[in-house]
Amino acid sequence: MEQALKRLKELDAEMQTIKGINALIEWDHHVYMPERGVQARSEQNAFVASLAHQKQTNPEIGDLLDKLGASDENPLGNESLADTDRRLIRVIHRDFHQQTKIPAELVEETARVTSVAQSVWAEARSKSDFSLFKPHLEKIVDLNLRTAEALGYDQTPYDALIDLYEPGITTAQVAKVFRELREALVPLVREIKARPKIDNSVLRKGYPAAKQEEFSRKVLEAMHFDFKRGRLDVSVHPFTVPIAGDDVRITTRYEEDWMPSALFGTIHEAGHALYELGFNREFFGTRLADATSLGIHESMSRFWENVVGRSRAFWSHFYPVLKEVFPDQLSGVDLEPFYKAINTVEPTHIRVEADEVTYSLHVILRFELERMLMDKNLKVSELPEAWREQSKDLLGIVPESDRDGVLQDIHWSGGMLGYFPTYALGNVYGLQFVSAMRKAVPDMDTTIRHGELLPIKKWLDENVHAPGQSKTPVELCMDITGEPMTAKYFIEYLRTKYTDVYDLK
Ligand code: ZN
Repeated sequence: MEQALKRLKELDAEMQTIKGINALIEWDHHVYMPERGVQARSEQNAFVASLAHQKQTNPEIGDLLDKLGASDENPLGNESLADTDRRLIRVIHRDFHQQTKIPAELVEETARVTSVAQSVWAEARSKSDFSLFKPHLEKIVDLNLRTAEALGYDQTPYDALIDLYEPGITTAQVAKVFRELREALVPLVREIKARPKIDNSVLRKGYPAAKQEEFSRKVLEAMHFDFKRGRLDVSVHPFTVPIAGDDVRITTRYEEDWMPSALFGTIHEAGHALYELGFNREFFGTRLADATSLGIHESMSRFWENVVGRSRAFWSHFYPVLKEVFPDQLSGVDLEPFYKAINTVEPTHIRVEADEVTYSLHVILRFELERMLMDKNLKVSELPEAWREQSKDLLGIVPESDRDGVLQDIHWSGGMLGYFPTYALGNVYGLQFVSAMRKAVPDMDTTIRHGELLPIKKWLDENVHAPGQSKTPVELCMDITGEPMTAKYFIEYLRTKYTDVYDLK
């Protein structure tokens, strides 16, 4: 058995190396690659992807897992093995079975369909013409149904898809949390809309990119983002890319006439990066040094971006610093109007531009539509109309064109159904973790007010970051908070914060 474990770890280490190489060329593609490099790069990408696929589905892994006693009934394997090894076995077993349960021809067909669908989607979106995209989306829904059948599920095919991104979480659990969110947030948005609008024009005053970067770097330093283990660069779409345990890079984009874009985008990505940099060092080079789910990943980025980055306490310290960097733009603007400006709530059509309150409603909208599609309660041809209805119910507004409605996100064209819920689960987990953090760091607001973010980062490192994939998201949530995922903390947080910001009753 010892031999089998040693061999399994070797194969896993190879996989991690390939993943890192893939991440590096991906990062280069978006940050530094000259335009004409694209042809060779796509060949390099395809080569690394097929190598990764071979390694992932290597039948030897199946034999080794058998030898180690791992099965669907006993995913942790033989009880005589060390706890950490058993947790590694569990993750490898899950990935291997996911990879091997889906037939190769289904994987290939999905790749073929989505590569066409993505370019058709871009065209359909620019023309705001859903009929172009419709036949492709029909194929994608069908492919997702077949994938779900291959993977297996308890209640609904949608369970199998959510499980790919948020292991162990079911459609029913998400539906319950989203119902609570919906019941709390829809009236909250209505109350806010009845209040006078907040003037946030100060954020549009022309902020030179170089100066924005200067300030962002100060914030990253305060967050203890280690520039010896990471980088900040510019790309069209901001992202975080883990290349190795000690090499995690983030990107941002600067909009000179809308400061929040880069500022909060950078804090958001740094939250992702701190997670990736915070895994237990003993796990480096193994599959345990990876995020346990997308929802947990998003909980960290949104915690830093919103709970810390858009708090009054944070700006009590950082606003004077920001004013030093932008003396002209911010002259005569006090902390309070600035704080309100960065916390403006307004229902809009576009999810990626949504504020903290309406954001989750955008996600709920997509969740409702996706699960109806997967349960065959909705046809693809009925989607644009269903989108408008949901948008009216949830956000109180109806998009005038499909471009701003059903065609706005790239995810479906990439074949990804079941992915969206994780964006809102992040908010939910995040505030649930904060409730536990407050007990351990009782003077959290005071520390933030002094610009001292280390106690927070340390708590996150110990409790959320370090375990990586050694704990499932369900275990992590239970271990940290003593209860399963619940929306109540997030709802309470929004209610309290925005009652103050908008002076609600
Ligand atoms: Zn994110």
